[in-house]
Amino acid sequence: MKMLIDGELVAGAGGFDVLNPAEETVLGTAPECSRAELDRAVAAAQSAFGDWRRDIETRREVLRRSAAALRDNADALARLLTQEQGKPLAKAKREIGGSARWLEYTAELEVPKETIDVDGQESVTVHRRPLGVVAAIIPWNYPVMTAVWKIAPALLAGNTVVLKPSPFTPLTTLKLAGLLKDIVPRGVLNVVSGGDELGAWMTGHPGVRKVAFTGSIATGKSVAMAAAADLKRVTLELGGNDPAIVLPDADPGAIADNLFRAAFENSGQVCVAIKRVYVPEHRYAQFAKEFVSIAGSMKLGDGLEADTDLGPVNNRRQFDRVLELIGDARERGGSIAGGERAGRRGYFIEPAIATDLPDDARLVAEEQFGPALPLLPYRDVDDAIERANAGMFGLSASVWSADRRRAAEIGSELECGMVWVNQHLNILPQVPMGGWKWSGIGVENGLWGLLQFTDMQVVEVPPP
Ligand code: NAD
Repeated sequence: MKMLIDGELVAGAGGFDVLNPAEETVLGTAPECSRAELDRAVAAAQSAFGDWRRDIETRREVLRRSAAALRDNADALARLLTQEQGKPLAKAKREIGGSARWLEYTAELEVPKETIDVDGQESVTVHRRPLGVVAAIIPWNYPVMTAVWKIAPALLAGNTVVLKPSPFTPLTTLKLAGLLKDIVPRGVLNVVSGGDELGAWMTGHPGVRKVAFTGSIATGKSVAMAAAADLKRVTLELGGNDPAIVLPDADPGAIADNLFRAAFENSGQVCVAIKRVYVPEHRYAQFAKEFVSIAGSMKLGDGLEADTDLGPVNNRRQFDRVLELIGDARERGGSIAGGERAGRRGYFIEPAIATDLPDDARLVAEEQFGPALPLLPYRDVDDAIERANAGMFGLSASVWSADRRRAAEIGSELECGMVWVNQHLNILPQVPMGGWKWSGIGVENGLWGLLQFTDMQVVEVPPP
């Protein structure tokens, strides 16, 4: 696999191995981008910016054709995605199809231009201008989707891009870069691969005007600090510890399956997955039983096997961390159903349902980002709201009830960027998504996401 720099595919001097997490075997190698190659990519993006920013119709067409390239190559891309990321093939196909849909949606967005009436005298218009070179930095859970969420709006708004996938999942993105090579004009989109240090070089690079980052809170803070030195714009999409609150009138039998799936989608490796479930005390035993039964029915396996429900955790570091949190939960007196390393090669953990945990157990208080879910009883709804809001996370939440209005009202008291009622993980291209508190700065998607790739420019023309 090669990088895309200044319209050319570049092998790079060195390389690093990428593992298949279901097998713990080497799947392929990715180029290790040198500093000089990064400089070349940024310089190419800077020089392409002048022409690219001029004509939005060209940009729309490039996004439409990029979507078509994704759709035409969906099977091969999805297969590679499953092999490097671990998710079941059907889900990988959905990620590729969803990415094409996002490109198609974004291609038709208008960059708004507003006029202010100043006593009928002056003509004042408010424009949104592109920023220049955007550094896009991507995590390993949805490598293609999170990349497209940056590429599409950044390019439509008239910016150029240097994108870096995670070192755990660079291959599908590099393959995509190869497909886009002859669609996107030279220098407009550059894709480089490498480790964390490459990300730091990008955020510190003087040629970059904006950093669009998705990843952990700890790295997000480093990105914010590096960007501040140069007053680069940032969008930070970071971790969550997303609560689901089940109200006393909700029917456990009817909703347990939906709750479970929203917690264990992609083996729990979703920023907005349900990470803790609060249920009324009198329903606690019933929910625990339902969840344990659903967990027991899940088939763990290689994502390429047709009957796999849950794939592996993506990488050793995350695998060890999830097992550590489960171990801590046991030490804190919790009852854990499942949660063992599966008896096979690969980073497989049996889905874990944890009960009887104190609120300060790490599995409750931290983002697990893996197949382990704590179930917590609450006394009354105020108690649930207070505990859901405790801590510095603020990504998403959901409220489940027979009374949708009441659920939405409770949602308005939750400190987070997205609240779903009787559903979770309903992410749409039209709808902004972002975190409060340590879960992020800014939003992605919809018109609001597009505007994050612009600065405002006011043009005032005096009366004749
Ligand atoms: P991570 O922070 O370890 O890495 C993310 C990316 O940042 C990688 O490409 C990495 O190489 C790069 N990086 C590492 N150090 C850097 C530095 N100092 N400067 C610049 N770049 C650097 O995150 P991860 O483990 O890949 O991803 C998991 C996390 O991502 C979870 O916390 C998850 O919740 C979060 N996430 C958030 C969203 C969202 O939209 N809010 C979506 C997906 C994942």
